Amino acid sequence: MTTRRSRLNFDVSPLQIHMTTSAPAMIGCGEHGERVSAVVCGHLLRGELAPAGFVENSSNPNDLQAWCSACEELYLGEGEMTEAFRRFNRMSIVCVDCYADAKVRHSSP
Ligand SMILES: [Zn+2]
Ligand SMILES: [Zn+2]
Repeated sequence: MTTRRSRLNFDVSPLQIHMTTSAPAMIGCGEHGERVSAVVCGHLLRGELAPAGFVENSSNPNDLQAWCSACEELYLGEGEMTEAFRRFNRMSIVCVDCYADAKVRHSSP
């Protein structure tokens, strides 16, 4: 039995992610190769303005999730995972190394 405590609960089925109860979801990253996957909002991706803030929603190393300050604000305003929030959030799957890069880039000094 697994307990997913994260509050992100998007449908990520279009992506090739292998979910099992014992192993973390993996992703084939173009830059880093086969890695554990992590979830960030579209504003934290490479090429976006930084720093956008980095709010982590999970501390499970096999299930890292974060979004930017604007997403946090909207989420708190909406109070739940609304359609408007999902559209704004543009959730993306990245590898844990890309996640770490984003964290460095977007964390406020
Ligand atoms: Zn965001
Ligand atoms: Zn990567």
